[in-house]
Amino acid sequence: MTKIEVVFLGTSSATPTKRRSLPSVAIRREGQVILMDCGEGAQGRFVKFGLGLNREMLILITHLHGDHVNGLLGLLQTMGMSQRIRTLTVVAPQELFAWLKTTMKVLHIGLPFDLGFVPARSGVVFRGKDFRVRAARASHSIESWSFLFEELPRPGVFDPKKALSLGIPEGSKWSSLQRGRSVVVGGVRVHPRQVLGPERPGRSIGYSGDTRPTRRLAKFFAGSDLLIFDSTFASRDTDKAVERKHSTASEAAQLAKDAGVGRLVLTHFSARYKRADALLREAQRIFPQTVAAHDGLVLEVPTLQ
Ligand SMILES: [Zn+2]
Ligand SMILES: [Zn+2]
Repeated sequence: MTKIEVVFLGTSSATPTKRRSLPSVAIRREGQVILMDCGEGAQGRFVKFGLGLNREMLILITHLHGDHVNGLLGLLQTMGMSQRIRTLTVVAPQELFAWLKTTMKVLHIGLPFDLGFVPARSGVVFRGKDFRVRAARASHSIESWSFLFEELPRPGVFDPKKALSLGIPEGSKWSSLQRGRSVVVGGVRVHPRQVLGPERPGRSIGYSGDTRPTRRLAKFFAGSDLLIFDSTFASRDTDKAVERKHSTASEAAQLAKDAGVGRLVLTHFSARYKRADALLREAQRIFPQTVAAHDGLVLEVPTLQ
């Protein structure tokens, strides 16, 4: 089974601190990287954490506040200088593309690889070989999106005893059935569902970007294995969270509970909190399966079955 790791490159909001860099989170999966937001300096951390500059890659940008996007140009340029040749797709609010094109022209940046642009919209924004990414509107001070990475369901577990009882000899016909193709044995067609258990759901990872908690997002993230959510403020600063259109750690926890997710990761902490301990404690009182992200944190998303 494919290993999935989530690597936190930056966990601060708005400004960097001694301990935290600007927001950026990577999903690393079988040689693929899906980068969510790209705060200033992301390219350095990208190299430091060994994410690989020529991998199959997708970049998802939630919104166009500088702290989420200022690192993109540098990362693309470094990839270009590292002789990247694979096409790279960026999903982002439409205006990003004009900014990127103009800036690249002004700075005479030419890339040796193709850049694909997909404007963010509600619904599926990217389909990979065995995964997809969906987007939903977040609730922030400007156009902002939340993303959900979803592996496609895998075929059920193959039952060799059933196959033998149906007279199918071990070999290529077993492989065909395991891959979901029917076979003919002694003039009789055998369908994969006769020898495979129930389909196994894939894993899913949600990323809120900057947002207030909303019912739409609780629905969007329902049942996800891992949810990474805006936790800019502690609940004693709820008025600031409301005013600046962010969430508190408690609000993130309540949404995780309502959505029935497996685990919650708090991130995007305001520079006013030196440590995230208090935010973690208040969230865990509501949703115990919560961790607080820090720069360099690597979390594996386990396979449940
Ligand atoms: Zn932000
Ligand atoms: Zn923002």
